[in-house]
Parts: sequence; C-alpha cells; structure tokens
Amino acid sequence: MSGDKEQNKARLGMNTRLAHGGYDPRSYHGFVNPPVVHASTVLFPDTHTMLSRGQKYTYGTHGTPTTDALCDAVNALEGSAGTIILPSGLAAISVPFLSFLKAGDHALVVDSVYSPTRRFCDQMLKGLGIEVDYYDPELGTDIASLMKANTKLVHTEAPGSNTFEMQDIPAIADVAHRHGAIVTMDNTWATPLFFKPLDFGVDVSINAATKYPSGHSDVLMGLVSANAATWEQLSEGNMMMGMCGSPDDSYQILRGLRTMGLRLERHQESALGIARWLEGREEVAAVLHPGLESFPGHALWKRDFKGASGIFSFVLKAEGASQQKAKVSAFLDALRLFGLGYSWGGYESLAVWVNLSDRTIRKGPTDGALVRLQIGLEDVKDIQADLEAGFRAAAEIG
Ligand SMILES: *Cc1c(COP(=O)(O)O)cnc(C)c1O
Repeated sequence: MSGDKEQNKARLGMNTRLAHGGYDPRSYHGFVNPPVVHASTVLFPDTHTMLSRGQKYTYGTHGTPTTDALCDAVNALEGSAGTIILPSGLAAISVPFLSFLKAGDHALVVDSVYSPTRRFCDQMLKGLGIEVDYYDPELGTDIASLMKANTKLVHTEAPGSNTFEMQDIPAIADVAHRHGAIVTMDNTWATPLFFKPLDFGVDVSINAATKYPSGHSDVLMGLVSANAATWEQLSEGNMMMGMCGSPDDSYQILRGLRTMGLRLERHQESALGIARWLEGREEVAAVLHPGLESFPGHALWKRDFKGASGIFSFVLKAEGASQQKAKVSAFLDALRLFGLGYSWGGYESLAVWVNLSDRTIRKGPTDGALVRLQIGLEDVKDIQADLEAGFRAAAEIG
C-alpha cells in the first residue's frame, strides 16, 4: 500500500477501522467477507517457487486468507507490526511469556493479574527456572526498586481482574525499557477501542478475543499484537510452538469485530448506569468501577482510557465468612436474567462470586462479599429489577 493510503488509514476512526479492517472484497470476486479457508497443504507451481518460498502462502499453520484478514483488522486497531492468533486468551499470555523468557530470567507480574496467568507463572515458568515476582498494581515509577539485572519482562493488566485497580502504564513502561525489559499488557477489559497499549509504551498487547471481539459466548480465542521491536521474536516463538488459529473461529471473531464498537458503547452506558445506582444502595459497601469518580484509579483511567467496558464488581455488605456465603448465595440464586458463569463479553448479563485467595499483595475486601457483574445488552430497567430481587433475597438472611 502506498504511503498516502497508509496516512489516510491512520486518520480513520475506530468504528471505521472495525468496519473496514481486513476488508478486501475485490480479492474475493466482490463478496463482502473473506472466504473461510480450511487448509494444511498449500501447493507450489514448481520446485523453484517451493525452494525460494516465493509465494504468499506456504502452509496452513503459517496463515491463510481468513487468518490474515483477522490479523490485518487487529493490526489496524492496535497499531501493531503483527498479530498472532491463539486458541484461547490464556494461550495469548503463555505463548508470549515462553517466547520472551528463558531459564535464569526474571519477570514482574502485577498482583491483580488474571488468576490462571498466576498459576502459569507459579507452576510452569518457575519450573522452567524463570523467577517471577508480583508487584502492587498501584506502583508507578517505583517499580524501579523491583527491577533486577535479569528482569526481562514486566506484565501489566489494567484494570486488574475482578478488583479493577488501574496502573500507570506509561510510567511502568518507561522504567522497564530503561532496564532493558519488555512490557506485556493484558488489555482484555478495554479492548483497543478504549485503550491502545502500544501508544502508551507497551510492546506486546494481549486480548482474550473470547470476550468482546467474540461477543456471543461461543468462541474461544486469544490475540497477541506486537510492536516492530518485538514482532519477530513473538512470531518465531509462536511458530516453534506450532500454534495457529482455526479458520472458522477466525471468521467468527472478524465478524464479531464489525459490531464490537456498537456493543461496547451499550455495555459501557448500561454498566456505568448500574454501577452508579449500586453506589447509592445501602446493601453495597463499595463499587469497583474505574469510571466512577469514587474509585481510587479513576484519575488514571480518565487520563489514558477512552471508555469503560461492561464488567465491574461491588462489595455486598456482610460480616464474617459464613454470613458472606449465605448472603451472596441468596443474592445470586435469586437472579433470573443474570447467568452464573465464568467469562464475559457476551450479549447476556453474568454474575459471579469472586475468589481472591491467590492474591499476595492486593487482598480482597473484608467488609463483604465481592460480586463481579458483566452487564449485558438487555434493557437496563430489567437488569436493575433482577438485581433488586437479589438484594431482597440477601436481606432475608440474618
Ligand atoms: C478471560 C480472560 C483471559 C483468558 O481468556 P480465555 O479465552 O478464557 O482463556 C485472559 N485475561 C483476562 C483478563 C480474561 O478476563
């Protein structure tokens, strides 16, 4: 593509990028969407082409027109040099970690990290001879005191899983780079629509596409987008491990991206409305949502993020472990619209009682049970009525 066209593309709004990224009807006889190419073998016309790898596609694991369409769309959103597709969001964390770390290296991981990331670090990375330390999400430049001579990777996730602590990403990236470490970020909550990690100094942006890009609770996928400095190492590590995206799932995620902006707008508006309403209820000790002025990380969120998605938590007041369990069970079991289930990002509302027992620094609240809500695309008045029924049931517990 010519420089002029690239420049024009850089000026496009995010919804335009969602509609036109990975979009190339002229290459497919005018059909609007790319074909779903099921492939292992790719044929070469002659030995010379085969030996020189002189054609665009060479083997199924190295990309197809379907996976390329998705990667092109994601690169346009992230501003990345390249994107890899993985079979789950968790694989989108483990694969870059294994690509950038080796025995004797040290990694710093934020304490409010997605729990399975911690399990991978504690059991797999430590077993491979890689040191891992956890750090307080609210450390900014003070993270310098934790950097060691062998620190090669700093993993961030903002807002943090379940408790939504914000991080000063540019400050952390600056310190990490001065010490020769790369910065990875799990950006699943915001998606590149509400936060573009690479613009804030992050090297490798990670997204569980299972969540908002999928949007319908029916596809598992992880996406990892790297800047020019890290792309080659990420892509080689990925190929060495034999990872690749399936054609059908890639098609579904590209399809999900087309409406992600609209869906996120609605998730944002409904979730913020519900969060404000919860803040005013006497059964609630705290609402953990970065978009609320009362939230400790609100200023950072306002400085760096363009929006908030549909997931946040609140503390249901209760005293002691047994009252917490009884109240939260009554609350959750009374819900009819909210499903009780893991994951999020689909069209339907979900609720879950959060377990923070693996935290080493950022422990859970002590004044009640932490309930995480994903606010779906239903009408807000119905979501609110459902939560009211939950509060009524919880109030009957002494
Ligand atoms: C869900 C989630 C993942 C993992 O995604 P899966 O596709 O379920 O493996 C990773 N990071 C965060 C922050 C998540 O919420």
